[in-house]
Amino acid sequence: MELSEETNKLLSEAVKVLKNSYAPYSNIHVASAILSDGGRIYVGVNVENSSYGLTICAERSAVSAMISGGGRNIVAIAIATDYPEPLMPCGACRQVIAEFSENPLIVSYSTSTGKIYAVRLSDIFPRPFKLMKQ
Ligand SMILES: [Zn+2]
Repeated sequence: MELSEETNKLLSEAVKVLKNSYAPYSNIHVASAILSDGGRIYVGVNVENSSYGLTICAERSAVSAMISGGGRNIVAIAIATDYPEPLMPCGACRQVIAEFSENPLIVSYSTSTGKIYAVRLSDIFPRPFKLMKQ
């Protein structure tokens, strides 16, 4: 697959912060980079917790950084991991990404073996829950 310059840049930014991941329980480190509509890139990593249910995925961490930084719309998102198999966003992250994006959103992700994949969010999460915005 031919990757856009934008996708390569986002994957590169995610790989840069992968070392910041806090994953002492799964030992699976994940990082995400978001390009927002303002042209800024926001990153996030997974943050695990002794109380497993409190763990935050890299994708939701990056979305939180985007919102905190004033961004509102995801133009593209990339996910990098040190895991050898592809890790697509979990269901919770798909819902959160859908809240701040419009179709078609490309989700790209890479593995520790250097494989790179890209899918449309609408293909992996076709009918998100959405309320009318007031
Ligand atoms: Zn997730």
